[in-house]
Amino acid sequence: MLDGRILLDIPPSAVLDMRRHGIAPEALDVVLVSHLHADHAFGLPFHLLDCILRSAGETPLAIVGPPGLRAHSEELFALAWPGLDVTKLTPKRRVEYVELQPRREVKVADIAVSAIPMSHFGLVAYGYRVTCQGVRLAYTGDTGDCGEIDELTNDVDALILELTHIAPTRDADHLDVATVARVAEKVRGRGGKVFATHMSVPPTHVPAGVTACEDGKTYWT
Ligand SMILES: [Zn+2]
Ligand SMILES: [Zn+2]
Repeated sequence: MLDGRILLDIPPSAVLDMRRHGIAPEALDVVLVSHLHADHAFGLPFHLLDCILRSAGETPLAIVGPPGLRAHSEELFALAWPGLDVTKLTPKRRVEYVELQPRREVKVADIAVSAIPMSHFGLVAYGYRVTCQGVRLAYTGDTGDCGEIDELTNDVDALILELTHIAPTRDADHLDVATVARVAEKVRGRGGKVFATHMSVPPTHVPAGVTACEDGKTYWT
């Protein structure tokens, strides 16, 4: 999460986790969905229900992601909550979907965001470049090693990247520790900070200079 109001992907436990850590889901302005795998998007039906029943707010919640996001979200909602038709309910807080085309920057709430296609199982899977209060951030979502990582991370003040594998791997669809070390060295060499998420490895195994993010903790204030 960025700035207490921009969520980078929405896993199934997102609403619960936010409440557990004292963050009200209604504090969110924007949810950026990198791709439609379950660990990144299955929190949508829980969050939509929260918007329908509980969350207040004058401004709409923007849910941003690849083309097909809205249909996917409504399909998930129908599967998750049989008997409730999300298209006929009046939510306490409005939801707006923003389906992005690659490399076209849009303004959402008070942030600028552009999507860079990553390499992940042949899906439309986006990394995001976000400018928020003058700070330039990049988030990889899930990706294998690919040339677009340079495009994504060029000139950013901070990078949040996935680190799935502790050892060098042949998995072409996620990053391993060797690739993360290489990418981090470039970003840090330009003065940027690097944070790792999506880890199946203990935080002790991240490359030097990379901060392993843990749930509920705040970094870089
Ligand atoms: Zn994935
Ligand atoms: Zn994932």
